[in-house]
Amino acid sequence: YISPSLTRTATSASLFETARHVIPGGVNSTARAQWSGWLPYPLFVERGEGSRLVDADGNHYIDYLLGLGPMILGHRPRKVTRAVVDFIEQRGTVFALPTADEAVLAEKIVAAVPGVEQVRLCNTGTEAVLYATRLARAFTGKRKIIRFEGMYHGFSDGVYWSKHPPIDKAGPDHSPKAVPQGPGMPRGVEENLIILPWNDAQALADVLAKHGEEIAGIITEPVMCNTGCILPRHGYLEAMRDLATRHDVVLIFDEVITGFRLGLGGAQARFGIRPDLSVFAKGLGGGFPVAALGGRKEIMSLVADGTVSMAGTYTANGIAVAAANAALDELGQDGVYGQLDAVSDELRTGLDLVLKQAGLPAYTVGVGPLMQVWFASKPIHNYRDAERYADQGLFRRWFEGMLERGVLFHPGAYENLFVSTAHSREDIAVTLAAAKDVASGLART
Ligand code: PMP
Repeated sequence: YISPSLTRTATSASLFETARHVIPGGVNSTARAQWSGWLPYPLFVERGEGSRLVDADGNHYIDYLLGLGPMILGHRPRKVTRAVVDFIEQRGTVFALPTADEAVLAEKIVAAVPGVEQVRLCNTGTEAVLYATRLARAFTGKRKIIRFEGMYHGFSDGVYWSKHPPIDKAGPDHSPKAVPQGPGMPRGVEENLIILPWNDAQALADVLAKHGEEIAGIITEPVMCNTGCILPRHGYLEAMRDLATRHDVVLIFDEVITGFRLGLGGAQARFGIRPDLSVFAKGLGGGFPVAALGGRKEIMSLVADGTVSMAGTYTANGIAVAAANAALDELGQDGVYGQLDAVSDELRTGLDLVLKQAGLPAYTVGVGPLMQVWFASKPIHNYRDAERYADQGLFRRWFEGMLERGVLFHPGAYENLFVSTAHSREDIAVTLAAAKDVASGLART
């Protein structure tokens, strides 16, 4: 299939050819790879501007990819950029000693996020998860971590299991087996994991009743964002909280995507559930690499006395702290999330209407500025539902149609559409007009 948009992206094609000789797959992340859906090659970017992305051929797109989440303030947010430039020009970047700015930032995070009494910075979500699971084990003296099929918690050996396994090889629906991401994952690690279907409180209760003595932590995204967008069933997160408490298990919310996006307090504030540990990245830095692990003081104090070491040459570097301080100041302004939600809801309800009017078996799922379109005639509550009911082919055509009309998001049905504070009502109107066109085209074929 040759999409018409290919004729407009010859520069991307040629840059890709050059890159693939010296960069495996031509890209620096699997999420940008051909096999992740960027066929026949990814767009090469010239620059971003607010809600827009400009590719190497000068094509403009309304951008709902948003760097896979960090650009919640849009591209090149003026105040964040200014803060970073000022910091590095006037003060430096890495000191291996603390700055006053770090506590200023920590105070903002603690004030915003209900479950965070103390917080440490690191550089990526992957690192923050690694520390969260280590802390859970150190705190409880137990060794197993429950993680859910279809989620992603970064690429470290300890958790990169059962993200998107082939379900015919992944064991029964109610007790999936741990499937490594691929070769090279050290075997034996999975003995420290229990894989469960998400959104199934009974499966969680059963496994805790049976193996609670061995289980140190439960790690979950409060909204499943790595198999499209799937909301927690009513009462599910509450049940999880309750079960974790009863079995002395550390509840870890991976808010890498939801954090500072579903509100300044993340999903935990929005849904009113207080986890023991929380992991943040993406939205926190307004586009700069910074992540955080925070939680109950009792657990975080294991880091204070060196019982659990949390290190890193680049942790809390000047760029990261200046960016996060500025981003949180921007996000903390009155009305920011109200406006972001309003614009996002306009997009989501608009998309639903367009899909319905076209008569397609499709609907949106989302919360605030986070959403995905499911091409499916049944509701999807977990990874196996998605594998069974979602039409990946239709999603692909939807993606291509929208791209041709200047609307960009990830080609994978298991990714998300992100909305930024830079997206305007006009952006949404243009997007919905394109969607109407594409949806009626899909309905005809
Ligand atoms: N957790 C979740 C829920 C994520 O979506 C991601 C990245 N998409 C990560 C962890 C890993 O974060 P990073 O890419 O910053 O290592």
